[in-house]
Parts: sequence; C-alpha cells; structure tokens
Amino acid sequence: MIALHNRYALGGITHRELADEYGVSQITVQRALNHQTWKHIQVQCAPVNSDLVRFWAKVSKTENCWEWTGALQRNGYGWFRYNGKMGKAHRYSHLISKGDPGKLCVLHRCDNKRCVRPDHLFLGTVADNNADCIKKGRAVKGAAKLNEQIVACIRERFAKGGITWQDLANEYGVHVTTIQNAISRRSWK
Ligand SMILES: [Zn+2]
Repeated sequence: MIALHNRYALGGITHRELADEYGVSQITVQRALNHQTWKHIQVQCAPVNSDLVRFWAKVSKTENCWEWTGALQRNGYGWFRYNGKMGKAHRYSHLISKGDPGKLCVLHRCDNKRCVRPDHLFLGTVADNNADCIKKGRAVKGAAKLNEQIVACIRERFAKGGITWQDLANEYGVHVTTIQNAISRRSWK
C-alpha cells in the first residue's frame, strides 16, 4: 500500500488504473488513499520503487493488450532496465504481478510480444516456447506467406540452433531462399 500512495502522489494515474494494476477493487484503492484503511502507514518516509514507476509510465493500456511503448529488442520484445540490468519488459511484468519466472519462459496468450498485461502472460519451458512458435507457424501454413511475427519466430528459432534453413522452409511451406533472406534480413528488415 505504500507503493500505491507514492504512485498516486506522483500523478498521472487514476484510481481505476491503480485498481487494475494491483488487482484490487477501486473501492479498496480509494479507501487506502483516503486513509480509511492502512492508517498506520507513514507515506512520506516510504521510498518509491523507481523501476516500477518507470515501467508503468511506458505502458499504454488498451481494452485488450497493455502495450509496451519503451525500447524494443530486435526480436520485438519490450526491453527495460530493472534491478540494474536490461531484461524483457513482459518478464518484469510477470515478476511484479505473479512472481519471479526463474528459468522459465514467460509466454504470451495474445501473441503480442509487446504486451505486458499480466493476465495475458503464462509460464512455459523453452520447449513450450518453441512448440508455441511451431504451432503458430503451422496454423498459417498454406494460407500464408510469411508475416512479421512468423519471421521473428523463424529468426529466433534459427538463432537457437539445431534447425536448418531447409527444415524451416519445409515447415513453413516456403522456398529455402525465402527463409535465408528472412534470416539474413535481406527481406523483412
Ligand atoms: Zn496481450
């Protein structure tokens, strides 16, 4: 609740947004801010967690996804400095809302790499991540030429090793040159 007071004091955020962010009702937020609850807390002496404040300042909430508006990695994920190191923005979102993902991957239900909305995220292994990627590739095969998201997926999988241009070409139903061009960024820059 200390963090909540501080964030509100910094401005630019509504009761509704605080309620969403902390997963509580708006009434709970209002009561806390009005000192009807948590009366014993001395707000002034509490340090602001500046990572948290900087993080939420770079999130644009839509009705569906909460989009990261800060820096992006080349592979399309949000990129953010926290605890003194650079890391993926959606992993940080998971860390502050649901706990440290540790060695697990934080995957997107919404297929939107920039999304940091906690309930759009779930944990999986690296193998799950690849399987998820493959499933998405297969789902569009035939209908598809490649799109940006698939290309990002292909680059990521190729970079991890253990798969050839030809394997990828077969899997996505395109010519091997198409894969080579996508990976070398001659296409899909
Ligand atoms: Zn989303």
